[in-house]
Amino acid sequence: MTAARPRALRPTQWALFTAPQGVLPLYLTVETAAVALVVLFPGPPPTGLDWARLGALFGVSLLQTELSLGIEKARRYLADGPHISMTSVWMFGGAVVLPAGMAVALTVVIYLHLWLRVWRPVQGRSAYRVVFSASTILLACVAVGPLMRLFGVRNVLVDGWEGCLVLIAIVVAGLVYTTINGVLVAIGIKLHHPTRPWTKTIGTKAENALELATLSLGGATAVVLVTQPVLVGLILLPVIVLHRNILMRQLEEKAAQDSKTGLLTDAEWRVRLSNELVRTREQFAVLMVDLDRFKRVNDTYGHMAGDAVLRKVADTIRGQLRAYDSVGRWGGEEFAVLLPQISDSGARHVAERVRLAITALAVTVTIDDKTHVISDLSVSVGVACYPDAGTTVDGLVHAADTAMYRAKRAGRNTVVSSADQPVPAPRRAVPTSPPNLRLRPPS
Ligand code: GH3
Ligand code: MG
Ligand code: MG
Repeated sequence: MTAARPRALRPTQWALFTAPQGVLPLYLTVETAAVALVVLFPGPPPTGLDWARLGALFGVSLLQTELSLGIEKARRYLADGPHISMTSVWMFGGAVVLPAGMAVALTVVIYLHLWLRVWRPVQGRSAYRVVFSASTILLACVAVGPLMRLFGVRNVLVDGWEGCLVLIAIVVAGLVYTTINGVLVAIGIKLHHPTRPWTKTIGTKAENALELATLSLGGATAVVLVTQPVLVGLILLPVIVLHRNILMRQLEEKAAQDSKTGLLTDAEWRVRLSNELVRTREQFAVLMVDLDRFKRVNDTYGHMAGDAVLRKVADTIRGQLRAYDSVGRWGGEEFAVLLPQISDSGARHVAERVRLAITALAVTVTIDDKTHVISDLSVSVGVACYPDAGTTVDGLVHAADTAMYRAKRAGRNTVVSSADQPVPAPRRAVPTSPPNLRLRPPS
């Protein structure tokens, strides 16, 4: 028996060739541009001091990566958008103080180290995507040197007011660096995941703030490296602690998120509701949204298709709400919505909008190579408004839940508020047979 050749030696099986359309041309263009610019503009020949700075930067980067291997691996597993690397501190610092060729060499070595020690063992991180990500940083690094020279900053060691010029130059260089990297990575993510919303492609506010924080530390590293090289070690600990705190935040966010739908968990949603009770004396509302006859979807198409419907319904509900509303998955096929600053009639209006959006849904699923479109979905919605329907978490949830069951009894696919008369007349007949699902022929 002969041992299988490693995948690296079998180009036909490289993940690159199964990448979505547009990825290959983008990646090749960026990588070629990066190599060409480095070869054409390597910067001034390196001096002995440059070599010493390069060594210092690689030393701290190596230490930082080795001391936070577990943190970085966990972050990789949790990552769901652009990944903000803490090593930007050293790469951007290098781009500011080193000749372009050296800054590029530093980036390549840092990436190789990360690849071998962290990313390779994490499944789903293909080599070609790492090479692309590194190339975007190389392009960003090559842009920093000329920018610093444009500001007349040859050496970040300056006195007095000229320090302001250094500050401005580093801020501008940081913004250009992050824009080049961020835009190219966002396009790459969008090509891989065309349906992903832009916030998950360009990163959230918090992620961009983190990126700017790493670049600020990178600028400070550059200055320290020129003024007192030994003190670069002082930046190491803050970077490691910041890194650990980011992981904690990512874990907290993950714990607050329902893994199937990406909505809040019921526990997190209850926290939001109790915060609202503490925060405000104004009116607000709670909706309980339950999918009608959902068991039939599972029975007809299976649970995987049922899950796809749940995700689509979750996205649809989210899409009908304001940015400051909170929506959680209360249980199996039941969703809870918190609508701050709204009256009973406003909440009914939102509930009606959600109901209509669900009835318009068509979810395409593939089962055994056949495509089906699941439509004729509907929800029953219960509305409870603070303070009339209740003044506690349990009181409001119970009121909305009771109203939702009244909507079921009233014929489903309808909205009932706890302020409505107790026994509303049925508005729609409930089809019992055939099931409440329209099958379209396989396409
Ligand atoms: P009703 O209109 O009375 O609400 O009918 P229903 O069928 O929606 O309600 P019922 O409580 O009888 O059934 C709920 C179904 O939801 C049963 C269960 O299989 C399904 N369900 C719950 N959680 C999940 C899930 O995570 N994935 C899938 N696919 N189905 C789920
Ligand atoms: Mg149901
Ligand atoms: Mg239910």
